[in-house]
Formats: sequence, structure tokens, C-alpha cells
Amino acid sequence: MSKAVHELGVAEGLALLEAGQLSSREWVDALLSREDRLGAFLHRDAVGARAAADAADARRAAGDTAPLLGVPLAHKDIFVTTEHPTTAGSKILEGYRSPFDATVVANLARAGVVSLGKLNCDEFAMGSANENSAYGKAHNPWDTTRVPGGSSGGSAAAVAARLLPAATGTDTGGSIRQPASFCGITGIKPTYGRCSRYGMIAFASSLDQAGPMARSAEDCALLLQAMAGFDERDATSLQQPVPDWRAQMLRQEGSQPLKGLRIGLPDEFFPQQLDADVNAAVRAGLAALQALGAELVPVQLPRTELAIPVYYLIAPAEASSNLSRFDGVRYGARCEDPKDLLDLYQRTRTERFGAEVQRRILIGTYVLSHGYYDAYYLQAQKLRRMIADDFQAAFKGCDLIAGPVAPTVAWSIGAQDDDPVKAYLADIFTLPGSLAGLPGMSVPVGFGANGMLDPVTGKPGGMPVGLQLLGNYFDEGRLLHTAHALQQATDWHRAAPQGV
Ligand code: GLN
Repeated sequence: MSKAVHELGVAEGLALLEAGQLSSREWVDALLSREDRLGAFLHRDAVGARAAADAADARRAAGDTAPLLGVPLAHKDIFVTTEHPTTAGSKILEGYRSPFDATVVANLARAGVVSLGKLNCDEFAMGSANENSAYGKAHNPWDTTRVPGGSSGGSAAAVAARLLPAATGTDTGGSIRQPASFCGITGIKPTYGRCSRYGMIAFASSLDQAGPMARSAEDCALLLQAMAGFDERDATSLQQPVPDWRAQMLRQEGSQPLKGLRIGLPDEFFPQQLDADVNAAVRAGLAALQALGAELVPVQLPRTELAIPVYYLIAPAEASSNLSRFDGVRYGARCEDPKDLLDLYQRTRTERFGAEVQRRILIGTYVLSHGYYDAYYLQAQKLRRMIADDFQAAFKGCDLIAGPVAPTVAWSIGAQDDDPVKAYLADIFTLPGSLAGLPGMSVPVGFGANGMLDPVTGKPGGMPVGLQLLGNYFDEGRLLHTAHALQQATDWHRAAPQGV
């Protein structure tokens, strides 16, 4: 075996498990022997993981063929779990234990995975840098002075640093794609409704969607296969068959696997302000796709800029409603010695919600209030529909849409502390697809250094850059196949950060 055990991806490790050349216990032990220097985990359960790995090995020895039997991973701490604490990165859920597992967690458990615990994230998944976690920042393994992205920052950092082969994430406005891009891994946010939201702590219910984060499209396909599917406990769950995405992607190899594929490039995704090095890496990725037979065609998404105000009205509106359940009575923590019921509500929420969460509850309450509803919330809903229609118009001329995930590479920790709007603006390329409910991926396509070229080589260098691929509804198969073809022909996704 040429790779160290902790470096194995999901498909690679599974092949060894199936061949009897590796046990789940050995895989889990190799991962647990690595120190988490990144603040990636909020809860790492060595004892539970070893016991679960032994149980998986026993099941395999007894002939059990569950598809992910013995594969280690961990969950973003926004999924409720009975086995481990759940905090959503918030002090308001300190000490909380769920009486049930999220459907995504249960589906993966049924497929045989071994959970190593819970991963750091922005409080209630609100953020783009993992700096809003109440339990400490997570760090980017490529440069620990920089953010890993967010809100699934712990998931991305752990997978990139080879602390895990894969992790779950959630994406409301980019939180799978953007941290995947910042940490140089592969992530997919499926069509809204593909994965059940049951037991996924709600931020903005009309946008929230779960997905896998791993180091290759093939590994993402394996995980998504197990995560997705109809769930009667989620009223927005899709009644759609889950195809065998991995079998599809493996069937279609060859020298021109993307022949006939039309990839639309929206002008609006390549504005003047796009960092030169991000642009260069994205163009290199597109050239690689062309070499595999894809055709690049211009398309328009004229309301791209409006996605920012639209999202930052709708998401806080839904959050203000969803987060009303955290009242100091029903879940988690409560303030000390409340005088009366109002004092209990007020102090619990004031003391236990972080600044960004409070800001969004205030904005959301404002835009939903009488007199402002029509002016803000309703207008935003109308524009949301138009943004979705723009995508349908664009998909008349192409099969997939491509562009950058974010306008820059990962920024330095603290760089955006003075102004939350800076982080909101950096969501420009991920928000439109989220508002439309479309599936999207981030695929590594090279390195840049926050607007600076490497002074020696004159080439971009330093931090990972992700290519965003967006598909039409239910077209995860085409996304995964395209990303897989790219990864068969290039090495960007194989690069690993050193020294962490
Ligand atoms: N950065 C966006 C926000 O702060 C998206 C977060 C997400 O997708 N969960 O809301």
C-alpha cells in the first residue's frame, strides 16, 4: 500500500476493506492517532468510534455487505445525534442531547459508517469563515492563519487535513461549496429536497440542504447515495428515485468523456473584481474540461448581484422564525435565576446567542413585520422567482453552468471582523444557485494567493481555488460525472496540505 492509512479516500479504503487488506478498526485508529490542530472537531469520540469500528469489522466478517460498512466520517454539528452532543456551534444548545438521529445521520449509519464525532461550524450555520462558532474558530490546514471557510468549516478542514476521509455538511447559501473551495476538497450540495432536513437544525428552511464533503467526486457520489432519499418526516423531501451515481460515473470513462457537454459561462460570474489568481485557476479548470470534450458557451444570469440582498432578507426572515424555538424552555441551556418568564426568554437568548445570530434575528423580525413585509420580504420572494427563472433560461443553451465558487481564496482570520457585510458580498457566486434550489459542486482547480501571484514563478500559488459547477434540478449525476472526468485527468484534488 503506497498511501498511509489516514490518507485513504472513501472508495480506496472501501476497496481495501472489501479485499480484507484493511480493517475498519485500523482505519479508525490511524485517523484518531492524528492530532486535531485545526479546531475541526467539537466532539471527537475515540472510544465510541473504536467500538463501532470493531462492530463493523464483525459484521463484515459475518457476511454483511452494507455499502459503506466500516467507513469513518464525522458529522457537521448541525445534525442532531443521539450518540454525541449537538450544539449547532451555539452556547444556547450547550449540553443538549437529541432523543433522535437526523435522517441523514441514520441513513449513513444504516449504510455502515463509523462516526468519529461532531465537527465545528458557524453558529446555526450562519457565516462564511467558521469564525461565528461559539466554541472557537477552525483553521485552514493550508495556512493556519487563514479561515477554512464556512459554515461547514470544521468538515472541510478535517477532510483536507486527512483527519477524516469524508464528512457531512450543509449548504444554505454556499456552506458546502465555499469551505470545500477554501480547503481544496470536493463537495456537492444536491437539489433542494434530495436529502431529508429532518433533524438538521433549521437555519433557513427553504434553502437548507445537506451534502457530502470528501476529496473526490467518486467519494462524494458514494456518500450522497447513502444520504439521499425520500423521507415522509420532511414535507419538502423529494419523491424522486436515487440513481446509482457512482455506477454511472464509472461507466462513462474514455478519452473524450465530456463530448457533447455544453458548459455555460455566465458573464456575471467573471466580473472585473474577481481576483486574478482565482480567475486563472478557474480558467485552467475550464480548459481541462474542454480538453475532455466539453464545449464552453456564454450564458447570462442577469440578476446575480441581486442574489445578495435577496438571500440576506429571506434567510434571516426564516431564521428569525426558526430560532424562536430556542427559548430556554424547550432545548439546551437556560439563564441563571430568571425573575419571570420574560426575563428567562430575554436573558437566555441575549446571553447565549452570538452577535451574528442576534443580528440576523433582528433583521429577519424587521423584514417580516407589518409595514415592511411587502417592501422587503415580498419583493425578495418575487426576485427569488426571477433568479430561478434566469437559470431555466440559461439551461436552454447549456447542460451545466460553471464559474468560481468565491471571488477570492480563503482570507486571514479576523480580516472581516469590522464589517459583516464584507463576508455577505463574498457569497455572490453561491447564493444564486441556492435561491433557485439547484444542485452545485466545488471541485479543486489549482491554487492562488488572495490576489497575489507567486513572486518567484509569477504564477498563482498558495491557497486552493474551487471551480463551481451548477446543474439543473436532479442533475447530480451529470455534475458528479463531469467532476469525476476532470479528476481522472488532473491532479489538483490530490494535493495535500503539509505539516498539519
Ligand atoms: N455564508 C452564508 C451565510 O452566512 C451561507 C451560509 C450557509 O450556507 N449555511 O448565510
